[in-house]
Amino acid sequence: MDRYEKLKILADSAKYDVSCSTSGVRRSNGGKIGNTCAAGICHSWSADGRCISLLKVLFTNRCVYDCVYCVNRRTADCVRASFEPRELADLTIEFYRRNYIEGLFLSSAVEVSPDYTAERILQCLSILRYEYEFAGYIHAKIIPGASQELVEQLGFVADRLSVNIELPTEKDLKLLAPQKKADAIFRPMKQITNTLIEHKRLIGPGIMFKGQHLNTEAHYIKGNDFMLEDSSVQKEARLRFLTPVSPEEREMRVKMQREIAAAGGNKETDKINIEKEHEHTASGDIYVLEERNRHKKVFAPAGQTTQMIVGAGNETDRQILKLSESLYRTFKMKRVFFSAYIPVSDSPLLPDKSVAPPLSREHRIYQADWLLRFYGFRADELLNEKHPFLDIEMDPKISWALRHIGRFPVEVNKASFEELLRIPGIGTTSAYRILRQRRVASVRYEDLKKMGVVLKRAKYFLTCSGKYYGLASLDPEEIRRELLENTQEKQLSMFAVPALQR
Ligand code: SF4
Repeated sequence: MDRYEKLKILADSAKYDVSCSTSGVRRSNGGKIGNTCAAGICHSWSADGRCISLLKVLFTNRCVYDCVYCVNRRTADCVRASFEPRELADLTIEFYRRNYIEGLFLSSAVEVSPDYTAERILQCLSILRYEYEFAGYIHAKIIPGASQELVEQLGFVADRLSVNIELPTEKDLKLLAPQKKADAIFRPMKQITNTLIEHKRLIGPGIMFKGQHLNTEAHYIKGNDFMLEDSSVQKEARLRFLTPVSPEEREMRVKMQREIAAAGGNKETDKINIEKEHEHTASGDIYVLEERNRHKKVFAPAGQTTQMIVGAGNETDRQILKLSESLYRTFKMKRVFFSAYIPVSDSPLLPDKSVAPPLSREHRIYQADWLLRFYGFRADELLNEKHPFLDIEMDPKISWALRHIGRFPVEVNKASFEELLRIPGIGTTSAYRILRQRRVASVRYEDLKKMGVVLKRAKYFLTCSGKYYGLASLDPEEIRRELLENTQEKQLSMFAVPALQR
């Protein structure tokens, strides 16, 4: 089999891994230029927001495991192929030189054993990094069960690592992927987290968390040196924020750091006023002093991610969200990706092949995940034992607001940042703009739209200088009906335009 044949097979086999953004788009090209369905290139985002193209491929699709939901399972009837380490390294570097790609997204089935596969992946990435001196982005999958040494070495050649959970409950894992063990999945995740922490040694204890001082204050001295509360001097440190932030907020924080740097010298006047700064930022942020990286080798600088399949087993949305929440908290996951199960097997253990992939469910789970990551929601607030599934018709923030209508309407001129974030139609950027505007004058209802507030959703849940702009009563059923009607009207009007033009 030549390299092109292998590439065709192994790029196609990788398309079910969704840890990148172009997966799942299905549009036939009808013989024209371009193709959204053909596997091979996917996209990811760099830290500065650039979209980068990656060669997305499996190292091998020869698998000794037999996960019933997988196209590459041992008993599946498909053409098998494996790259040689140098072969894939050569392909990647050639594609890079021709400007087809900027990086590599490398996943794999389990050929022979987890260690055997991980070792070959490591060989390939080492050739790329050390022999070809490739400095581009590499995302590598960790094979559950691979030895700690291999996981660590992979972290030094890859930018991002991921161990896929696939099935959110242990019961489904036993049933659908009997050779995989929960422990073998979580062990490397924990190891990656610990190594990341070790390599980015956090010096200053948390300074502010949810509005409370936890431990210490930091005084800026000079250069990258800070003095801590106990008068010890921390040399070569930098201020870091642990929670992901909006671009606007980031800009403001960078400005703050520049101001600190420009101040120079006087430790009394240059005290970092975290409390003041906190007015502008979401609660839940932890500010730390972080030692500048003294290690020559960098371990997985883009952190780790994972993926879960939605709808292959009997899991509820609540189980998925609770697991994601604990992954963000415990393993400091950068992202949890969700993939609607696409029927590829006739197994009676799985949904029938005629059942459509639960794409709407996947979409709602992504929205809820966003609320966990950026809006300070907890999984238990969004779903409970009585309501274990997200509302397919409504986005999770509106559903939550309708179930807690007693907390509304919220006065935009008085609400805290956290309260503003709970209003449907208000995001982190618009909440920040409202706070900024309030420092100089009251916010008027007409201003809200300009600030990015989506009024057709928000108007039911807020007051502006005491005036309510929603329905006659705060009846959740009425509001729900009106919101749904608006959505349907919008959808109808999209189809009505061509009719009018005719
Ligand atoms: S380990 Fe399971 S999910 Fe992964 S390739 Fe093999 S059969 Fe598929």
